Amino acid sequence: MEILRYDILILGSGLAGLRAALQASIVSNGKLRIAVISKVQAMRSHSVAAEGGISGVLYPKEYNDSFSLHAYDTVKGSDFLADQDAVEILARLAPEEIRFFDHLGTPWSRLPDGRIAQRPFGGMSVPRTAYAADKTGFFMMSTLYSNLQRFDNVEIFHEHIATSILLENGVFRGFTVLDLESGEMNLFLGKAGIIATGGGARVYSFTTVSQASTGDGIAIAYRAGIPVKDMEFVQFHPTALIPSGTLITEAARGEGGYLINRLGERFMKRYAPQKMELAPRDIISRAMITEIIEGRGLRDEESGLDYLYLDLRHLGERVFRDKLPMIREITRKLINLDPLSEPIPVLPAAHYTMGGIHVDTYGQVMLDDKTPIPNLWAAGEVAAVSIHGANRLGSNALSECVVWGRITGSLAADYALKAPDTMLNISQIVTNKAREEESRVFDRLIHREVGGENPYLIKRELQRMMDDMVGIFRDGSILGEAWSKLKRLKERMSQARLEYVGKTYNNNLRDILEINNMISVAETIIVGAITRRESRGAHYRLDYPSRDDTNYLKHTIVYYRVGEEPIVTYTPVRITLWKPEERRY
Ligand SMILES: Cc1cc2nc3c(=O)[nH]c(=O)nc-3n(C[C@H](O)[C@H](O)[C@H](O)COP(=O)(O)OP(=O)(O)OC[C@H]3O[C@@H](n4cnc5c(N)ncnc54)[C@H](O)[C@@H]3O)c2cc1C
Repeated sequence: MEILRYDILILGSGLAGLRAALQASIVSNGKLRIAVISKVQAMRSHSVAAEGGISGVLYPKEYNDSFSLHAYDTVKGSDFLADQDAVEILARLAPEEIRFFDHLGTPWSRLPDGRIAQRPFGGMSVPRTAYAADKTGFFMMSTLYSNLQRFDNVEIFHEHIATSILLENGVFRGFTVLDLESGEMNLFLGKAGIIATGGGARVYSFTTVSQASTGDGIAIAYRAGIPVKDMEFVQFHPTALIPSGTLITEAARGEGGYLINRLGERFMKRYAPQKMELAPRDIISRAMITEIIEGRGLRDEESGLDYLYLDLRHLGERVFRDKLPMIREITRKLINLDPLSEPIPVLPAAHYTMGGIHVDTYGQVMLDDKTPIPNLWAAGEVAAVSIHGANRLGSNALSECVVWGRITGSLAADYALKAPDTMLNISQIVTNKAREEESRVFDRLIHREVGGENPYLIKRELQRMMDDMVGIFRDGSILGEAWSKLKRLKERMSQARLEYVGKTYNNNLRDILEINNMISVAETIIVGAITRRESRGAHYRLDYPSRDDTNYLKHTIVYYRVGEEPIVTYTPVRITLWKPEERRY
């Protein structure tokens, strides 16, 4: 096993990871040696798929906007589960980040006078979402990637998948990483680390996220003894194209699109009479499923999926050309439909992981409520910082990625600049843990006798179970069944068969590593959903249909225990200015 030593290790090359790498390079003036490790080619990271835009107050006078209004909208959108000190940081730093990207060269869409344009998004009181047509993530990622080329101190390890996080006496030491090309396991040691591995919505089968969004960072942190927070809160985006699940951005509704049912009715008038199609996603997704259950949906016989319509016909050619070009490309290419002349068939799909690794306000990873890991941070979708609480507002994720990419990049750089080189010495504990991991991957997974379980069938069963039993509407007894089923799937997965045992690009092995991670992610979602006996934001319990601030205005924390049931504890929500109130839109 080769040992590689760096000042900072960044796991993940999405928006959060690359922003952290840039910040650590700027802070250290290019002095720190930084490794960015990514299981896909960096520019194939999921962030390139982000469409609609990034939130941040740019024009307080014109739009009657303020940091405080952005923060309030976010807290209300979160169903009052967000930590309000973190939300205030988001609101203050997001505009700086949008302007920083402007200086770096992001081709933002513009107002006629040349200033950065902003559009309305769900749950936001005023237009405050900046965008680059409907390809915002791609342009922000390209900006970061090209700016990083200026720094020789940053090395990107494409197609390297981390399999475990190594901690020693509560201190981060590094990652074990499988080089997918050579098939060799490497040990990366770092003075400081940042986990930026994105979300895990791939545990569902009808989803908008990339194949790679399997929640690896959450799973390997959890199995290393790091607790995870609020995992029961999974966002379902209202408008995914059927049958593929490809996202039709909320910007389509921000630009004036309507949702209609089989009767041609704008049904949102029944559920959110003021905000209509720009209510938060949890409310719209529930409204859509209710319409379908009550018989006002349509059915696609070929896929068996129910759907409703997103009607954009009235927007006109110019809006598509200037603001939503990709939506037209997507519907034309995938279902041969021109949204100028026909409404788009859509259904809610799993989209975003509101929970994640338990971190403090500045992204520092916590071992428990009182004990931070001094040299480890997490940023982006993998971290529960927590600004989204029980329901994220659209366009707040990109701001989170860059704001906490910047914060954690600075903090990790400060730490690494002061840390002695002896931190990179290897100890017996780290050697043993790395060897154990190597043997788990190579001996237990690769050299397994043929004849066991097919991992791809297990994956499909897992995803279908999550769709059917842990979806938008949940119920205690069904969640209990999902828990038993998950245990059986976990047991079967320990007997998974590896068809291909070669070393070079063993995608079969990668998939098994990912499926094991998906099972861990599902475990944290289900256990959180079972124990939260209330309905809040994206977590709706038919058997407990009301929000219960007396008992559940708190974050769920789940700890992994080897061979035992997970342990569930709670931690208070940090409230600064906004007392919980009834959420009306
Ligand atoms: C289709 C779509 C459109 C969206 N549009 C918007 C939008 O317009 N506005 C908005 O605010 N939000 C949007 N979101 C959400 C937002 O895009 C994501 O939350 C955000 O991009 C996540 O960025 P990230 O840096 O945290 O992780 P990702 O971009 O997901 O990157 C994760 C990185 O971690 C690496 N990685 C993962 N596991 C491992 C491992 N085991 N070993 C090594 N590397 C690993 C991956 O290779 C990748 O580089 C959208 C989401 C979807 C699904």
